Formats: sequence, C-alpha cells, structure tokens
Amino acid sequence: MTSKSYNFATRCIRGGLEADPQHGAVLPPIYQTTTFRNFEVGKDQIYSYSRVENPTVAALEARLGVLEDCLPAVTFGSGMAAVSTLLLAEVSAGDRIVCSDVVYGGTFRFIKEVLEPLGVKGQFVDTSDLAAVRDALHKPARLLLLETPANPTLKLTDIAACSAEARAVGVPVVVDNTFLTPVLQRPLELGADASLYSTTKYIDGHNATVGGAICTRDPELRERLVHLRKCLGTILTPHNAWLTLQGLKTLPLRLERQTDNALRVAAFLAGHPGVEAVHHPDLETFPQRELARRQQDRGGALVTVELRGGLEAAVAALGALKLGTPAENLGAVETLVTHNATMTHASIPAAERAALGITDGLVRISVGLEDAAEIIADLDQALAIAARRRAHA
Ligand code: PLP
Repeated sequence: MTSKSYNFATRCIRGGLEADPQHGAVLPPIYQTTTFRNFEVGKDQIYSYSRVENPTVAALEARLGVLEDCLPAVTFGSGMAAVSTLLLAEVSAGDRIVCSDVVYGGTFRFIKEVLEPLGVKGQFVDTSDLAAVRDALHKPARLLLLETPANPTLKLTDIAACSAEARAVGVPVVVDNTFLTPVLQRPLELGADASLYSTTKYIDGHNATVGGAICTRDPELRERLVHLRKCLGTILTPHNAWLTLQGLKTLPLRLERQTDNALRVAAFLAGHPGVEAVHHPDLETFPQRELARRQQDRGGALVTVELRGGLEAAVAALGALKLGTPAENLGAVETLVTHNATMTHASIPAAERAALGITDGLVRISVGLEDAAEIIADLDQALAIAARRRAHA
C-alpha cells in the first residue's frame, strides 16, 4: 500500500509493505543475516551485505516513506547517526551551517566538537526570529538545520517561512521533527527538503530501540545519504528495524492519548505554587500559539516546566518520583522526566544554556500513556517533597 489517500492510522499499519509472498506471514520476517548469497557473481543485486541494505530495514524505510509521502526513508543506527551522516554528506571544510540555537545537545556537540575542528563553521541562530534567519543566510551557507519544537524549551520555528527564505538563496532545509513525527507536523509539505527523526522517541515509542531516519523527496540527497551510510557503517540493525515497525503501528493512537494526558498535566502544573512557568504549544499562554495552530496538528506530548527553587528543586522533584522515571529519553509510553541542564544538554556551557532558556530549574516531562490522574498524583507528591526540602534547607 503506497497511496497517500489513506490516513495516518492506516498508513502506519499497512503502508509500504506487501503480504509475505513466501508464507503469507502477517508481520514481515526479520532478515537477521550479515550477508546474502551472490546469485550471479559480478552482477549488482539489491541485497549483498547488511551494512549497505537489508530487507527488514528496507521494510521500515518503505513505511516511513509512505507516511511522509516521499521516497523510502534512509534509516540509521541512532538519531545522532542520522544527524552526523546528514551533515558529513552535505558539508565540507570551509562550509557554513546555520542551525537553530535551541537544539538537541548531541547535535550541538557534533557541530562544535566534530565539524568545527574539520573546518566547518556552525552558526547557531534564533530561528524563531525570521529576520535573524534571513540575516544568517546572507552569507553563503550549505544547510539550514531547524529543530521545531526545540529540545527542550519547545520554542517553535516557522518552517514554511524559513524554507522560503532558504530557497531564495539556494540553501537546503532539514527539519528535526522528532518531537511531533509526521502524524502531527509534516515538514516536507511546508517546504523543507528533508525531515529527520530520532526514531528512538515517538516512532518506536516503547523504549525498546535506538534508531534514526531521514525522509526526503530529493533522489540525489537520498543517494548521497545511502552512500555515506555505507561508508560510515551507520545503518540501523534488522532487529531494531523490525521492533520500530511494530511500535510505529500505534503511533497516531499513542500521540493522541499522550497529548491529551500532556494537556491535563500542563493544566495541573499551571496552577501549582512550586511552578514558575509551564510550556506546551496548545496552551493559550504559549507565546507562539498562533504558529503552533498553523504548523502543527496538535502540540504533542512534551511539557516543559520551570520549577521555583532552580537546580535544588529540580533534583529533589526528580528524585521523589514514584511512577515517572527520571531518564534521558522521551516519547515512550512510560512517563519520563528529564533535568536537561544536567542530562541531555550538559555539553552546552552553563552561560549559553541559561541564555537559551535551559535554566537549572527547567524540567522536561515526556508524558506517557499511564492513567493521567495517576501521573498527576505522582508529580503532585514529588513537588510536595521538593517544596518541603526547600523549606528545611
Ligand atoms: N534529535 C532530537 C530532537 C533528540 O531529542 C535526540 C535525542 O534525544 C536526537 C535527535 C538524537 O537521537 P538518538 O538519541 O536516537 O541518537
């Protein structure tokens, strides 16, 4: 099934795959093999070695391609393998990349610690400010890398407006769409050249795998990615591809319920005395509410909260959780709570972090699929313990 005429619920379950011709298996087989018999020595065949291509990996790529209405995706062993393969494929010494200033810490670290020593300049720009983007694109650039909503502050970037600016000066645009997935936001339809995913997050959704994917309609870009993936050895494993295919089937359902849960959590936190501010794109108080309405189907299942009492309060609250898990991941069915300043974004210098709004009291809640009232009760007791510790300090 390849047609865009099916909706996401159907595409996630049926997209891209034909019934197994050999045995009629409902699920695709896991081709857990390193290599494939060369039928005609000296002739090219689709599968030869699983560092290059593998049928189970190709099955996931076909399905993701149907979801984004694009070419089959290119999948990787992690979201960072996707980011690094993309950047190494697209830039060389002397080039400049323009990147959202609030991005996943690993992306920032790769640009700063790997690309900059190789002679590539990374310019981190507040891409929520179109004039700043226009200004940054005045000088020659090889790529505009956007992350929206941004990890962890949820700051949004206008994909259509930035893509139009970039197109006018011939700069390709890639959007890290990990937080929303194509179910809630479709960067290619908004004018981007590619969308990028840590499939580790919502696409798998079960804390079972680490993986990444890039979706594009540009056959030359796809070819360059596949070639560099072969050179670097950054492909996804067949077993993780298969697990990701299973997780993906319930993506629309999970996102719908997890977003409902996130809104209930956000409403509870908004009235809590231990909380200074709550951020979620669907809240009327969200500063970019109009853009969220225009660009995203819904705000997603992440809530960012700034706790009164800074680092101490955040550490105490995370340590007091009984149901939610303090952890680095997000997007799974389990509620996961992250203190970004000491976990995901620790590689960003403290002063820069503070300037970007990643304060010591900021906590990111990846709201899961547990009962919403029980998630809230857990946060309530954890915040009460954090408040008591503060009072006795
Ligand atoms: N992009 C975003 C927005 C992320 O949040 C992450 C990880 O947290 C990544 C990329 C990297 O993905 P992975 O951990 O699968 O390498």
